[in-house]
Amino acid sequence: MNQTMPTALQLEILDGNIALVTLDQPGSRANTLSLAMLGELETLVGQLQARNDLRGLIFRSGKPGMFIAGADLRELGKAPQDPEAARKLVKRGLDLIAAIETLPYPTVAAIEGACMGGGLELALGFDYRVASTHPKTELGLPETKVGLIPGWGGTQRLTRLIGPSLAAEMICTGEAVKPERARQIGLVFDAVPSERLLEEAMRLLREVAPAQQAVGSASRWSDEWKAIRKRKQQPVGLSEEQLSFTFAVARAQVMAKTRGHYPAPLAALEAIAKGCNLPLQEGLQVETEQFVKLVGSPISRNLIAVFFLTQRLQKDPGVSSANVQPKTVQQVGIIGAGTMGSGIALAHIRRGIPTLILDKVPAALEKGVHNIITKGLQSRVTRGRMSPDEAAVALTRLSTSMTLNALADRDVVIEAITENEEAKVGVYRQLQKVLQPNALLASNTSAISITRMAQAVERPENFAGMHFFNPVDRMQLVEVIRGDKTSDETVVTLVALAKRIGKTPIVVRDCPGFLVNRILFPYLNESLVLLQEGANPRAIDKAATDFGMPMGPITLYDLVGLDTSLHAGNVINSAFADRAAPTRILAELVAAGRLGQEYGAGFYSYAKGSRGVDDPAFEAILAKCRTGQRQISPEEITDRLFLPMLIEASRVLSEGIVRDPGDVDMGLILGIGFPAFRGGILRWADSLGLAKVLEKLKPYEHLGPRFHPTEQMRQLAAEGKGFYPD
Ligand code: NAD
Repeated sequence: MNQTMPTALQLEILDGNIALVTLDQPGSRANTLSLAMLGELETLVGQLQARNDLRGLIFRSGKPGMFIAGADLRELGKAPQDPEAARKLVKRGLDLIAAIETLPYPTVAAIEGACMGGGLELALGFDYRVASTHPKTELGLPETKVGLIPGWGGTQRLTRLIGPSLAAEMICTGEAVKPERARQIGLVFDAVPSERLLEEAMRLLREVAPAQQAVGSASRWSDEWKAIRKRKQQPVGLSEEQLSFTFAVARAQVMAKTRGHYPAPLAALEAIAKGCNLPLQEGLQVETEQFVKLVGSPISRNLIAVFFLTQRLQKDPGVSSANVQPKTVQQVGIIGAGTMGSGIALAHIRRGIPTLILDKVPAALEKGVHNIITKGLQSRVTRGRMSPDEAAVALTRLSTSMTLNALADRDVVIEAITENEEAKVGVYRQLQKVLQPNALLASNTSAISITRMAQAVERPENFAGMHFFNPVDRMQLVEVIRGDKTSDETVVTLVALAKRIGKTPIVVRDCPGFLVNRILFPYLNESLVLLQEGANPRAIDKAATDFGMPMGPITLYDLVGLDTSLHAGNVINSAFADRAAPTRILAELVAAGRLGQEYGAGFYSYAKGSRGVDDPAFEAILAKCRTGQRQISPEEITDRLFLPMLIEASRVLSEGIVRDPGDVDMGLILGIGFPAFRGGILRWADSLGLAKVLEKLKPYEHLGPRFHPTEQMRQLAAEGKGFYPD
């Protein structure tokens, strides 16, 4: 029997008077709990409440690989910081879930695909959850990743179901769990193959609601079902001691990871800790109070904006025309088996792409294959990210060679040899005698001009930059660098390849330093100027990490290597000589053989372990380079580090190096770990207001053009606008 229902929801009554509701939001690949969808669910549940002829309810999604993606983030991203409006939104969701929870018959959520955020909170309102083992099935509460906490009961119901410590972990990390793990921790009753999902849900209902008993009889339902309902309403019942220990550990973990910059995981812990020993209704009130503090807050809005920019990049083909198709890439070649080449090869074989890696030095090839590729696979196995079989299969996709001729059958070749233009161009000249005419060639150069190197190749349209970041395994970003003659087809092919190996590509027009290093270097360079003026290296690092950077600029220099940094810095500084402040300290340290962490000493000394310690030998070199002995305040250090970075970002934008502010901000977030909670450097400026930024710059303008606002910044400030239109 079918009934007329609102568009996204379909109700059927199956044999044995079991209601089957299927959710399939029209015109969308995902089901989301928008306000409109809440309205439809409210109507449906109202009808279901009135049906006393039913024996049970099964709720499922009609979309393949997708249960419910969560609340509609577009709506939440625009939500004003208005506690009353937030409370109303929360109440609607809570009332809906409470209505499901009190339906007069047993209920099952049959979950296949992503069951996230509000989707999982809805599913937690059902008596039972059964998941399919479909590869896309996962269950999670990722709200803290966008600066919120679960607000429709997630912090309370999950805690009552799987215990406070596991719930705190799932909510604070925002990581989803796969069906098997969900079964182990009691989040779902069972995990079964897709084709058995509905059958299993029916079986469960038949078990708790035996058909032979008469409808309406008081003993109609099993005791187990009644116990499940009762338990969900009750306090968890932890002792004071257990409670304080569990939350002290969880809080310490959150603080170690976020340094207190992200309020949402702390608010989630507060909601769980204060709510878990209360009856459900009171626990929900505690949750609501934490939730309303976060909705519409600047951090949450920034994180939601970053979420949408990430999605945009994932869908972006790399050029504006939708008609350009990527070439087929079946086999890839990598030249240079150093840190980068081996990392890039590993990324390809992990994602199923046959890859040949080549080096002119046999020992380098062996070292790359053994130390980076094989060990990289082993470490994934150890961390449970890959099975031993998958690692063994990945390794079979790798081949090695020492001669360029071996690259004859490759569709794409990525060059990652030493940063030397003559050497790179020499390799390209030889290579084009070997490569098939259609093959693409990409350079992983950090700083050499793609347009200039393209002059040495016969088919410059097939040549581009593909700039990975170190360590390749962990860094998400790939800059796809467009030279003047690079074709659209080459760009879309390299963008598609980068996505295939799990990276997020951003297309960047060729310029010294490309996008990320060009903006990073004014910041790095200013840290050296500050050192020479009298600032302490620790104070500089601290100002940067207090701002939210993953590490300070001085530590970053040591990590990247001082000789590499000096070389790249010289390229960028000479390209932008009008505004680059000259410094001595880096060259002096390199001359003294202090090349960074890998060599035991740079700005800090690393002799006694991997954490840098202060070193009098460094102090002696610095003393020679000092231009002053001023006490410099943390506020000045912060301004001096980030304002030149902002000015360069504005130049990059005005010059059209990337298409819009979103690309600049995502490049910095993914490439150097610029704090996502600030939304990127341009969004940070917008949050201050450009008039305020100009004011902040005034005391430093005498230091030179690196502190002079761009025309774009002046204009935006005059018009009361920001870099972003919203
Ligand atoms: P590396 O010194 O670790 O490795 C370079 C490898 O290339 C060496 O094994 C060397 O034997 C090999 N090689 C040199 N000339 C060769 C040739 N003609 N034919 C074949 N092999 C040759 O260098 P790396 O750090 O891996 O950097 C490689 C490239 O990536 C450089 O252009 C660098 O600027 C760029 N890059 C480096 C980083 C980084 O942080 N290391 C980050 C991004 C980009």
